[in-house]
Amino acid sequence: MVYAGIDLGGTNIAVGIVNESGKILSQCSTPTRPERPYQEVAQDMIVCIEKALRQAGCTVESLHSIGIGIPGIADAKTGRIIFCTNLGWRDIPLREELQKSINKPVFIDNDATVAGYAESVSGVSRGCDTSVFLTLGTGVGAGIIFNGRPWNGAHGVGGEIGHMTLAVNGVPCTCGNNGCVERYCSATAIIRMARQSCMAYPDSAILKKAGSIDDIDAKAVIDAAKEGDKIALRIFHRYCDFLAMAINNITAMLDPEMIVLGGGVSRAGTFLTDTVKEYTPRYLMYKTMPSPKIEIAQLGNEAGIIGAGLLGLLVKKQ
Ligand SMILES: [Zn+2]
Repeated sequence: MVYAGIDLGGTNIAVGIVNESGKILSQCSTPTRPERPYQEVAQDMIVCIEKALRQAGCTVESLHSIGIGIPGIADAKTGRIIFCTNLGWRDIPLREELQKSINKPVFIDNDATVAGYAESVSGVSRGCDTSVFLTLGTGVGAGIIFNGRPWNGAHGVGGEIGHMTLAVNGVPCTCGNNGCVERYCSATAIIRMARQSCMAYPDSAILKKAGSIDDIDAKAVIDAAKEGDKIALRIFHRYCDFLAMAINNITAMLDPEMIVLGGGVSRAGTFLTDTVKEYTPRYLMYKTMPSPKIEIAQLGNEAGIIGAGLLGLLVKKQ
């Protein structure tokens, strides 16, 4: 049997045919164009699945199920998308729509959750029963894998680690609260801190790399920090300190075997994990006890397709 995995993004629909061990056999993608009626987006998903199946030399009969990772939340029971802000979708019966064309089980889950699940099956957290995946990008997404299964709570909104409060009366968040993890641990947070610092210290190597304050991105800051620029290092250490705090909050609640870091900031590699590990002991409560390993994700952009596809495996495991 093979599994169709769909990574539904605001820009592209990426579809892959995945085998039981999480290997992608073929891929196909098409622009999402979310302004269209959702029925058209669903139809494009079907076309891509059929194309990818042909490329992999598989038939629809050999397809076990369709899994979809969405940048939002879904109701697992009904297969309806509840919220998908950057697609502008609310209460969309996606499973029902897809099953009009291909009558197979359809599973829908959050994109960070499925990426974390993929890492736990065929990536860096392979073999861990419990792990937490964090995407450090424009925001902070999270996927909790608990006892080998994605965990998103009693109402489907668990794992919103990006919106746990890290600072009382802190930086205002897009969610309406203040001081959320996302405001301190995302690439956006690095950029905000760097812009402030570069106003006071225009000689920083960050500005030389970025060109102007408006063009500062996380990479410019991380590259300057790697080269030893003092301002960039100060920002990077502050960032890693915040991330260590967030990781400690996760540890206090779940004590996972591993915290997996993905997303743009994770391209900093061991420079990131080594620095975060300098700070985590400060916040750990049981300092002499083992603490979660902190590792960089291995599957990159393919994690979305693999994890979505493998949602079908969970049913088999039951
Ligand atoms: Zn928030």
